Amino acid sequence: MSYYSENIINESNTLESSTLKINDINNFNIDNCQQFDINELKNLKNNLSKLKYEYQKKEKLCESSIETINQLICNKCFQENDGHIWTSYREPCMYGEKYHYCKNCGKDMYSQAIYDLSCFN
Ligand SMILES: [Zn+2]
Repeated sequence: MSYYSENIINESNTLESSTLKINDINNFNIDNCQQFDINELKNLKNNLSKLKYEYQKKEKLCESSIETINQLICNKCFQENDGHIWTSYREPCMYGEKYHYCKNCGKDMYSQAIYDLSCFN
């Protein structure tokens, strides 16, 4: 399903061609855009592109923070448990890969990778 079928500009947002601003993708409704002229549509597209770029920056910041926090969790796991608590998981399919990892923090036994433990449920 395209996100254009979701709400993009809610009913309370009336469009004024030069002031169209979208601060939250949840408040956008493509159905309300059918009557726009081409300049309004270009303006809308530019604003959506800016919003997309802001979301991408936030995504990168979140991923970077998660990596740092994962490392902190891994270090504390090692200190508090006097080492990691190793276990293994095999993918439930023919020739599935086998993972050896700490069941407390998700650290891979053979590398610095840290898995999301929900992948092994
Ligand atoms: Zn651990």
